[in-house]
Amino acid sequence: MREPGDLHALREMSARVGRNMLLVQGAGGNSSVKDDDVLWVKASGTWLSDANDKDIFVPVLLPAAREALADDDERIPLARPGPLRASIETSLHALLPHRVVLHVHAVNTIAWAARRDSRDAFAERLAGLAWRHLDYVHPGLPLARAVNEIVARETVDVLILGNHGLVVGAETCDQAEALVHDVETRLALPVRAMPAADEAALRRLCAGTDYRLPGDAECHGIATDPYSRAIATGGSLYPDHVVFLGPGLPTVDGREGLTTMLARAEANGLPAPVAALVPGLGAIIRKDASPGAEAMLSCLALVTSRLPLSAEISYLSGAHEQLLLNWDAERYRQQLTASRP
Ligand SMILES: [Zn+2]
Repeated sequence: MREPGDLHALREMSARVGRNMLLVQGAGGNSSVKDDDVLWVKASGTWLSDANDKDIFVPVLLPAAREALADDDERIPLARPGPLRASIETSLHALLPHRVVLHVHAVNTIAWAARRDSRDAFAERLAGLAWRHLDYVHPGLPLARAVNEIVARETVDVLILGNHGLVVGAETCDQAEALVHDVETRLALPVRAMPAADEAALRRLCAGTDYRLPGDAECHGIATDPYSRAIATGGSLYPDHVVFLGPGLPTVDGREGLTTMLARAEANGLPAPVAALVPGLGAIIRKDASPGAEAMLSCLALVTSRLPLSAEISYLSGAHEQLLLNWDAERYRQQLTASRP
């Protein structure tokens, strides 16, 4: 199959965006380019940051992608047989009229999109852009259907996805990337300074357990800052958090608290929590946590430190969390991420 000339530009741009933790964390985000009736879209479970080193884009026929949306079919066949699956958001990429579509989990956008009191701020800060804000919708087909309704009525270049992230459409890769940066600059929030962690105390707590300190020291702020901690333990802010870390985050108080947390999980037939917050000391993560889970803990630190004390937080419902946890497409994505070298 002939590869379009701007697939190279898509790889370059995707790798750049994927390496920026403020825009994409782990296997999150996706991008695409349309070439006649072929859509080149990121494969599910691959990382945008790998775009220059691995073949992360797969071709699908646009008519097939649009048909799948009409038929409520989550699996879109590849136009060239291969081992990968097209991104969960392929229908969304297919239905937007723009040549290039870029979806990111940009932390300033997410911080605003996880609030109930953000409507006026969006109107003020995004003035002049062709933008729309959607309430939270389950990713994949339900999200694509909701966007389809908007696109049928008007031309939109910027979509703020409630409790999720940002989608932009443009004619070129450069324009799409610039638009993401423009939106993030407009929505930029001050970052709250976090009290220092006590890594020595955390190491003593983890000694002899299945837990360790996270790779990114910034993650401790979620536990040392009382306000970030309250937000993080209150529920789940966006889908990838649930998929990679489970709903919300538990707190543990000392060794006894850790034992109690593990006993409770076992009694409920649940796996040991991937990560936990030790109030005042810092965050801990399971020794076998995937790079995707590590990235999601970093994301939570970046988002919660940008949520002001006055924010009215909007959480995913228990029903939404369950849908994410029991979603076959997400299990596949997690497996791929876990096996990423
Ligand atoms: Zn997403």
